[in-house]
Amino acid sequence: MDDSHSAAASEYLIRYGGDKYFQAAGGMFNTLFHSARGTIVTDVNGREYLDFTSGQMSATIGHNHPAIVEATRLAGEKAFHLFSGMIPEVVAQLAETLARDWLPGQLRRSMFVSTGSESNELALRIAKLYTGGYEVLALGGSWHGITSGAGAVSILGDRRGYGVPLAGVSMIPEADMYRPYLPGVDPEESALTVLELALKMFDMQTTGQGSAIIAEPVLSGGGVIVPPQSFLAALRKAADERGMLLIFDEAQTAFGRIGARTGAAHFGVTPDIMSLSKTLGGGLPIGAVATTATIEDTIHDRNFAYYTSHVSDPLAAEVGLAVLRTLEEERLIERANEMGEYMMAQLDALQQRHDVIGDVRGLGLLIGVELVSDRATKRPAHRLGPLATEKCLAAGLNVNIRRKAERGAVWRIAPPLTVSHDEIDQAIAIIDRSLADSLDELARTNTEL
Ligand code: PMP
Repeated sequence: MDDSHSAAASEYLIRYGGDKYFQAAGGMFNTLFHSARGTIVTDVNGREYLDFTSGQMSATIGHNHPAIVEATRLAGEKAFHLFSGMIPEVVAQLAETLARDWLPGQLRRSMFVSTGSESNELALRIAKLYTGGYEVLALGGSWHGITSGAGAVSILGDRRGYGVPLAGVSMIPEADMYRPYLPGVDPEESALTVLELALKMFDMQTTGQGSAIIAEPVLSGGGVIVPPQSFLAALRKAADERGMLLIFDEAQTAFGRIGARTGAAHFGVTPDIMSLSKTLGGGLPIGAVATTATIEDTIHDRNFAYYTSHVSDPLAAEVGLAVLRTLEEERLIERANEMGEYMMAQLDALQQRHDVIGDVRGLGLLIGVELVSDRATKRPAHRLGPLATEKCLAAGLNVNIRRKAERGAVWRIAPPLTVSHDEIDQAIAIIDRSLADSLDELARTNTEL
């Protein structure tokens, strides 16, 4: 290991993981990383890891895909950045490509910013100006970002200790098919019944100034929760009935990850505003919001303003276009379905052998594996999860564990859509071994799962 830089990391960086467990184990600065290509990330010692989180769920076409490298070179020849009032031609081209080939329904006007948090700030700002309201309904287990507005509607976020959140946010219980809120009832019926109750509560509580319902079509950070179509259709109806806009945050679900162009297309429910980010940049920072011409015309008439240093930057747009082109050329949406099916079948087989795998779920290559200490009670395996995750990493596989006390211990598995059969086989073998070794270790020390 390059000790000098590791020491520099410990001395000079702010720790932001918020996770004492991993910090105790040497933490995020123990190993520094050097490079990434395709599915493989390499540390400073030359050790390779299979990256089954695609970076931060972003590198869908594989790390440092030649098309992205070429796009950055091209931007270097043309322009990386311009005055925010100058629209680069590549930005117009990206907006046209999105409207023509990727977005459902009437979504046709886009704007480009830098991150997912920011695209949700932008989406909420549009909804507020359009409706004249400010109240927002958000799903339990949601993650929309860290900035004030996006953080306020992120129920999953660390909410304690950071002051007063934005006013007007109410929560809708999410449609969890594995842990339905109403026990003993069909999970879909439970989700719809609880939604109806939540809306009744909101209708009593509202100041009459609703602006939006915001939802991830599949809750990713919340534990890869795939709702039934009826739930998203009910959100659409709820928004319409209250004069609120429906925002889909498709940071992860758009552009192939779930085996469809968008979550909206997969579920057949079209929002008024779509927020896009991670999977559009394939690992480089870009955020976008798309909406209808009617909404855009209206807010423009009301002097809509959202001006940042990096709005409409040509570098990000060049990369976004390259990502969309690569998805088509390499038929990666089809591939997400094909490889997702392959991986899911193998995880199902693992579930047959490991009682601690309570549930395997997902769409395309966005997969959740829920670890429980007891299948009947579904008690989350909060010790096993992080231990097995560490063992996976030590064996060369990066997967993400969601282990908020109230949300279970869920592995989020999301390799690049370019992942090979062989890489999936290797990952499955590592997961298998890590689970078995962790169970042995916990049994030896008589520790609860
Ligand atoms: N929305 C969703 C669904 C996300 O998963 C994330 C990031 N985890 C965000 C928004 C925030 O994006 P960013 O971290 O780029 O601000």
